[in-house]
Amino acid sequence: MSSLVNLELLDNNEAQCPVPRCQLKLKPLELLTHLLMFHRPEQSMLEVGPGWHTVYFMELAKLKPNCNHVVAVMAYAGSTDSTRSRPVGPELQLVHHLPLILMLYVSPLDEQLEQLYVLYLVSLVASSSVSARVCLLNDVNGREVRGQRCLRSCLQAPLQDSSELLHSNLDYLVYTATDVWEHCSVDESHYLKFKVTLQGEPNIFEQQQQPTQQPKQ
Ligand SMILES: [Zn+2]
Repeated sequence: MSSLVNLELLDNNEAQCPVPRCQLKLKPLELLTHLLMFHRPEQSMLEVGPGWHTVYFMELAKLKPNCNHVVAVMAYAGSTDSTRSRPVGPELQLVHHLPLILMLYVSPLDEQLEQLYVLYLVSLVASSSVSARVCLLNDVNGREVRGQRCLRSCLQAPLQDSSELLHSNLDYLVYTATDVWEHCSVDESHYLKFKVTLQGEPNIFEQQQQPTQQPKQ
């Protein structure tokens, strides 16, 4: 499955800035930097805490083949200060929140290959300490439609929980057009609904840990 999705397409494919009246198109990582540098956080980001169930909507008719789309821009605060209010405001700082973009890439139309809808998280660091449970929702009964998770690079060591959780810049979640159209055929609103639940503690200074061999006792 992963060989069908070219990583270059995702990282080099520009997406439109989600802030109203900003027409800028940028590559995903540049877009996150742009949001942090040129827009106020409260204008562009939704604050989410650990375990919050948030649902984001994408209008199916507006999704273009071979294009990246912004599903949501989130400022994720870990659980350490969950007892106090954490409004997203001009004082938002990277050390307190982890800014994340949930992107959706729609693969080109091809007679030979089924079209794919690829979800992935973009952050300034490749974070394995913060992860997300992301799924497409079937609107009739709120059932979760399972996608397939793939590592973004065959050089990466498989993460233990990668079959369940999505990590920033490390893996992606793939739905086929059949998944999407079967989902939408039961929902006349023609909106895709993605449920996102974040967990873990943000650490902007996190180093990507390499798996190490533990000496036997
Ligand atoms: Zn913008």
